[in-house]
Amino acid sequence: MEIANPFSPIEPLNIGIAKKAGIEILLKREDLSHPFISGNKWRKLKYYLIDARLQQKSILATFGGAYSNHLLATACAAAKYGFKSIGFVRGNEVSNHMLQLCKLFGMDLFFLSRTDYANHKMEIATKQLMQVFNEVYFINEGGSGLLGEKGVAEIINEVKSQADVLFCAIGTGSTFAGLLQGVNNHGLPMQLHGIPVLKGMEEAFQKQFNSYGLNYCLHHQYHFGGYAKTNDALKAFVQEMAENTGILFDYVYEAKMMYGLLDLIKQGYFKQGTRIMALHNGGTLGMLSML
Ligand SMILES: *Cc1c(COP(=O)(O)O)cnc(C)c1O
Repeated sequence: MEIANPFSPIEPLNIGIAKKAGIEILLKREDLSHPFISGNKWRKLKYYLIDARLQQKSILATFGGAYSNHLLATACAAAKYGFKSIGFVRGNEVSNHMLQLCKLFGMDLFFLSRTDYANHKMEIATKQLMQVFNEVYFINEGGSGLLGEKGVAEIINEVKSQADVLFCAIGTGSTFAGLLQGVNNHGLPMQLHGIPVLKGMEEAFQKQFNSYGLNYCLHHQYHFGGYAKTNDALKAFVQEMAENTGILFDYVYEAKMMYGLLDLIKQGYFKQGTRIMALHNGGTLGMLSML
């Protein structure tokens, strides 16, 4: 089967706060492109899958945490396109619904201690896969890297002149880097805004993104204490959004993005008439364990 192009609809998000401020919010529903190969992970995988095919590899090997949207996306994509898949998971052996789904899609899982994962994951994976090494195509954690960013940049083809501002959540930053490239490729005046979901990333992201120019802005005040941290306000926000829009925003990424966007609008950050496109990058399955 030919590697498909991710498709995601764009829909208006009707929220009182935005209407009052005269701001239009559009939601790019990357979360709807596939139930398991979700959101930006599908975008980032696309060119790695094409490259693995070109190189005639039969096994995809990759890395991620125990709730990794990327591991699940890789497992499902591998099954769909005729690859075997192997996931190297950070931390002691556990079981949860995300890893069970990975296994359902045929992924073999290996667990690495946190220190091994941080320092030697590639060496350990290489050793583990020695027998089949020539068959293996390695994909970075989260699908980061140049081919991942190339896939993400294609989102811009589908957005182009429909918005003045593009908004998204930032984890590792590879999605944001891909979007910056897409905007530069098209020479668009669109400004990119990001909400880092990790604490203390000011310098790291400045280094990572400044090479793409300065037409971007990060809002570091919406991490809610750090990666995967939540509080009652964020939980109430997820509840309210679900009830009022029929859309789930996961606690780790998308709820923080949306909360930040609406809070900035409330504060009058964007001028009247601004058209904002927010990317919903999926990740909804990951929140099941927190319900
Ligand atoms: C992985 C992920 C992100 C973060 O993407 P990065 O490229 O790591 O910045 C955001 N939202 C969701 C739902 C994700 O799964």
